[in-house]
Amino acid sequence: MSVGRALNLIFLGPPGAGKGTQANLIAKKYGIPQVSTGEILRSAVKEQTPMGQQAAQYMADGLLVPDCVVVGIVGERLMASDCVSGFILDGFPRTVAQADSLSELLEKLGKSVGFVISFEIVKDVLLERITGRRMCRGCGRGYHVVFDPPKSPGSCDECGGDLYQREDDKEETIQKRLDVYEEQTAPLKEYYKNHSLLKSVNGLGSIDEIQKSIVAILES
Ligand code: AMP
Repeated sequence: MSVGRALNLIFLGPPGAGKGTQANLIAKKYGIPQVSTGEILRSAVKEQTPMGQQAAQYMADGLLVPDCVVVGIVGERLMASDCVSGFILDGFPRTVAQADSLSELLEKLGKSVGFVISFEIVKDVLLERITGRRMCRGCGRGYHVVFDPPKSPGSCDECGGDLYQREDDKEETIQKRLDVYEEQTAPLKEYYKNHSLLKSVNGLGSIDEIQKSIVAILES
């Protein structure tokens, strides 16, 4: 499906808000890539690349990986040919400095941000959402044991890979990640509101309802 212009999108929200799930669905619907910095970093950690080794401890502690590392990842990724008709940035930017670097990067590429979709959700439900989250070791697709279970327990519907719980989704690290979000990432809502790019969706509905709200924004 096409909306007739490049869909350069940012999905913004706390861990557990449903950004990754919706980015996956919207990316498939419009044939654009989902660029998840968390997923790229997790692969780098798994493959023990120099970047992965640099990022691993920050991730395990629920802290942000330094801006220069993630800006480098995104800069390279956005130059790929599959980003020509759009992309969804899922988990980036996460600081005002990253947002500034992103505008510079896009300007150099002759692109701009279309919409920033902010997932609004009360903090109380995030813990339940995150602790039930499972990821595929093969393709990185996310599931939830209650709200979005796989057809066959423990294995991915798409690639048959094993499902696992991320280390940083365990209760000990989650509080830290939520605090980091409030302190460093939430100010981006004001930042993008000031740029007239912010659109909010209610992150509390069903996967289908939230997807419909996003599509309505994109096709408005
Ligand atoms: P996510 O899968 O988006 O929840 O990201 C998992 C972890 O990767 C985060 O807790 C950070 O340690 C790191 N990370 C992902 N994206 C970024 C980013 N834009 N800036 C800094 N760290 C990031």
